[in-house]
Amino acid sequence: MSTIKVPLLDLRLQYASFKDELLPILERLYESQYFILGPEVTALESAVATYSGCAHGIGVSSGTDALLLALMALGIGPGDAVLTSPYTFFATGGTIARTGARPIYLDIDAPTYNLSPAAVQRFIDEECTSGDDGLVHRASATRIKALMPVHLYGQMADMAPLLAIARKHGLKVIEDAAQAIGSEYAGGARAGSLGDIGCFSFFPTKNLGAFGDAGLCTANDPELAELMRVLRVHGGKPKYYHALIGGNFRIDELQAAVLNVKLRHLEGWTEGRRRNAATYARLFGEAGLTGTVGLPYATPGYRHIYNQYVIRVPERDRLKAHLAEEGVGTEIYYPVPLHLQGCFAYLGYKAGDCPESERAAAETLALPIFPELREEQLAHVVAAIRRFYG
Ligand SMILES: *Cc1c(COP(=O)(O)O)cnc(C)c1O
Repeated sequence: MSTIKVPLLDLRLQYASFKDELLPILERLYESQYFILGPEVTALESAVATYSGCAHGIGVSSGTDALLLALMALGIGPGDAVLTSPYTFFATGGTIARTGARPIYLDIDAPTYNLSPAAVQRFIDEECTSGDDGLVHRASATRIKALMPVHLYGQMADMAPLLAIARKHGLKVIEDAAQAIGSEYAGGARAGSLGDIGCFSFFPTKNLGAFGDAGLCTANDPELAELMRVLRVHGGKPKYYHALIGGNFRIDELQAAVLNVKLRHLEGWTEGRRRNAATYARLFGEAGLTGTVGLPYATPGYRHIYNQYVIRVPERDRLKAHLAEEGVGTEIYYPVPLHLQGCFAYLGYKAGDCPESERAAAETLALPIFPELREEQLAHVVAAIRRFYG
């Protein structure tokens, strides 16, 4: 049994670093008793929009609700379909299905784990008909309305070919940027700024985490941003007059106040994660493990923000158990790709339909990467993996 413990994530160290800044702000907020959609929310919306290179920000109740709101604002519903990755958190596909639209799962590129533009192109060429009412998926008779790429683990999907496909066929693009705040595409465009709508999560384990659930949508089109603001409050405009049916997708002042303080530290924390990733790469190299352990692939010219540091090995489950014994916390993101989830059986997918996603689900393992980790802890993780391989 090891004496060094390396948890997958420990947020208490981070809290200590901004506590003194935050507590007086929370004190004032409690005294004001103003909790919903106030000045902290407005400040957060413009700060995250600016940080992400977008014109507008709309704070919402969670990353899941950000995706749902985006789909609703784009008018996606029954009879429609959205093309996305099956190798992602459940909300990506779950929100598409909740609108009544059909999620269509297409495979990922193995090195990046992100939606494969070639797979999207092949699907359109082989399974769709392009006509007057747009792109129709022949087998399900649904209209393809949108692409929803996911920037998994903190690295952006290959957006240029996806945007070109979307433009050619009149598809909307919703970026699931839940894991990717501040990550950059080649040329420097940030996550959430390239599609019609970007969706962020402030779940506590994300790089910018609230003290509970929260999220945000970004957009460059002012009318789309205004529509999302109206749908966020049940579609009432003016209040109590409903031309539209929305939902309660509000973020509260408390979460926004926490996020406004934490956002000032985000660049430093992101650099800490990137430094840890570089240290891992060096340590794995020094341990002679780079042929044995598949390290994360950082696409040249992109900025990876390492929400997760994910390795791949064929004997993943045994390695995970070994690391638990060595005091190292790990997690599997995600063990079952969405096309094989029980709730999506009605879509008719079978094992083998998205082989790269299925292989990733069987082989990937997230290691501790949070910024406050000490080098001796990273060294312990690599040494423990070395002991596993003898
Ligand atoms: C976290 C996450 C979401 C959902 O965000 P919540 O704030 O937990 O609702 C959606 N998509 C991806 C890829 C995520 O990682």
